[in-house]
Amino acid sequence: MDRILISACLIGWPVRYDGAAKTAHHPLLEQWAEEGRLVPLCPETMAGMTTPRAAAEIAAGASAEDVLAGRGRLVDAEGGDPTAAFVEGARLSVAMARVRRARFALMTEGSPSCGTTLIADGTFSGKKRFGEGVAARALRDAGVEVFALDDIEALSRRLDTAD
Ligand code: SF4
Repeated sequence: MDRILISACLIGWPVRYDGAAKTAHHPLLEQWAEEGRLVPLCPETMAGMTTPRAAAEIAAGASAEDVLAGRGRLVDAEGGDPTAAFVEGARLSVAMARVRRARFALMTEGSPSCGTTLIADGTFSGKKRFGEGVAARALRDAGVEVFALDDIEALSRRLDTAD
């Protein structure tokens, strides 16, 4: 049975930067939890970041790919540079996918680590832009198929056809 990495905040872990969760409710999540498929991960806390922590965004003009290649960085709301921790969280996420043999991931949209198609614009204005979080990009580079919560039905269909 295929395992699914899941952003821990989606299943109620209070690990977001503000100390909250982002709990999702969906029958498929309940089913997959009962089946033991879900493997929770939080790239940021796995990398040793505290909760709560300063909000962080991938700097304007940079992509997750840039960050992983050492060409881009993250900034936090207090003027810090948490780039190294985000890269470490991405590395640990890939390691977890390998150890747990997870080929799929369901992640939190908009996050600088877990975003799948949308991230903040890097100016702390609340605006979004197209892009991926650093861990989501690293997982995709490692061959993991990453889905957003809004695409949970697509993930279910994909699981039905996976070898
Ligand atoms: S890093 Fe991912 S799992 Fe952790 S709080 Fe942010 S969105 Fe949730």
